[in-house]
Amino acid sequence: MTTMARTQTDPNASSSAAPTAAPVTVARGDGIGPEIMDATLRVLEAAGAQLAIEEIQIGEQVYEQGFTAGIAPESWESLRRTRVFLKAPITTPQGGGFKSLNVTTRKTLGLYANVRPCVAYHPFVASKHEGMDVVIIRENEEDTYAGIEHRQTPEVAQCLKLISRPGCEKIVRFAFEYARANGRKKVTCFTKDNIMKATDGLFHEVFDEVAPEYPDLESEHWIVDIGAAKLADTPGLFDVVVMPNLYGDILSDVAAQIAGSVGMAGSANIGEHVAMFEAIHGSAPRRAGQNVANPSGLMLGAVQMLLHLQQHDAAQRMHNAWLKTIEDGIHTYDIFKLGHSTQQVGTREFADAVIERLGSEPSTLNPVRYQAAKDAAPAKAAEGDKPRPAKDLVGVDVFLDWDEPGRSPGRLGAALQAATAAGPLKLKMITNRGVKVYPDGFPETFCTDHWRCRFVNREQPGQTITHRQIVGLLTAMTEAGFDFIKTEHLCTFDGTPGFSLGQGE
Ligand code: NAD
Repeated sequence: MTTMARTQTDPNASSSAAPTAAPVTVARGDGIGPEIMDATLRVLEAAGAQLAIEEIQIGEQVYEQGFTAGIAPESWESLRRTRVFLKAPITTPQGGGFKSLNVTTRKTLGLYANVRPCVAYHPFVASKHEGMDVVIIRENEEDTYAGIEHRQTPEVAQCLKLISRPGCEKIVRFAFEYARANGRKKVTCFTKDNIMKATDGLFHEVFDEVAPEYPDLESEHWIVDIGAAKLADTPGLFDVVVMPNLYGDILSDVAAQIAGSVGMAGSANIGEHVAMFEAIHGSAPRRAGQNVANPSGLMLGAVQMLLHLQQHDAAQRMHNAWLKTIEDGIHTYDIFKLGHSTQQVGTREFADAVIERLGSEPSTLNPVRYQAAKDAAPAKAAEGDKPRPAKDLVGVDVFLDWDEPGRSPGRLGAALQAATAAGPLKLKMITNRGVKVYPDGFPETFCTDHWRCRFVNREQPGQTITHRQIVGLLTAMTEAGFDFIKTEHLCTFDGTPGFSLGQGE
């Protein structure tokens, strides 16, 4: 690792007079990364940002040294020390064995909130939605992105979707705090809880619990499918939108694209200990080294970083000067358009133009006004004031890989009944891909080799069972030759079922 200290305060100033410089880790990345980082650092310095910069190397060269995550182990020490990471894009090598640095960084450092403002700069940059100004807040750690996947049978693979109450509380509270600190009016939640009642249902439930703590903000919930359609069609309906990881991943790109400025959007990844700021685009290798890339995405990521560091004056100066540059029609090739633009410039010249305009404000576009958030509470999960609910085990789903000719659910049901007849647990139903096929299934239902077989208390269905009884059940099934591939326990929490009911129950 090359760690190069570079401090942007005057080294000759007396320590008592100099404002404290915030430690920041910087990585210049690959492709256009070094050029746009250089432009961004020059503007930061000229805007009066007080930063003590440590540089680390990430990306292609580090992958080539054999570090499969694109970052050397010692670079984590810099990130732990500074807790703030300004990152240029990197080139992720194609092929197996290499991991995405972004995913590794988010998970390792617990960066649970991804914040992506999606803004139109009409009439200076072409946009599908002239007045669009929406902030997408995506949960960054949970959902199907836990990466827990299994192929369970020759025909069926699964991906676990994990949603936790503390995870929901952190991201939902973060969204409301963000809205309040940034003068926003409304927070909207997108989920698919009409279908995923336990996982997305929990996200929605927590949203409804937290929203009343912010009576100054409007709150609403949309089912994600119609919400996404409305966001693409009428983004003016939305202000701050919070959602689970997968929907957020997709919709934050859609929102940035329809704002018309995918090359100009910055993003923040915020954790309890560390935060990372970047442009949303990649390393554009074909444009590297030509002084043509647009540094705006990284510059706007850097503005978010200054706000995170409570350097509101520098953030406001930099952002307004950037807006004025865009408004003056000084554009890089990617947004240059006759009629909208006045001068096509390169990366360095764009940065020069922003620096020249420090202290100016746009007149057609809205200037930004940043001030220190007054009472912004740290966005964390509520701690331990709720008693754990009473948990009762009332059944078990045993999943089988079963592929007899004809795949008759009736034959499978009869064989399972016979194999388990002597035990305390009784077969209640069998489903295939969630559709009930036994008893009373439809012959038209298509069946794979993946079967869920639900067992409950034989004498008193709904009453508790024991772990030992489940072990006995699995032993009986093994002796009868069944290939069980996993079990899921059916529990109630304070009497409320914590499992989906089979279709038709
Ligand atoms: P890309 O974002 O690099 O490029 C897509 C298109 O947009 C290209 O035509 C490019 O020339 C243009 N473009 C992107 N940024 C621009 C800018 N600032 N100014 C002008 N034009 C710009 O996406 P890609 O080509 O799919 O990916 C290239 C590499 O970047 C890949 O290795 C990918 O894995 C990586 N990537 C990295 C990150 C990251 O580090 N955060 C994010 C996305 C992609």
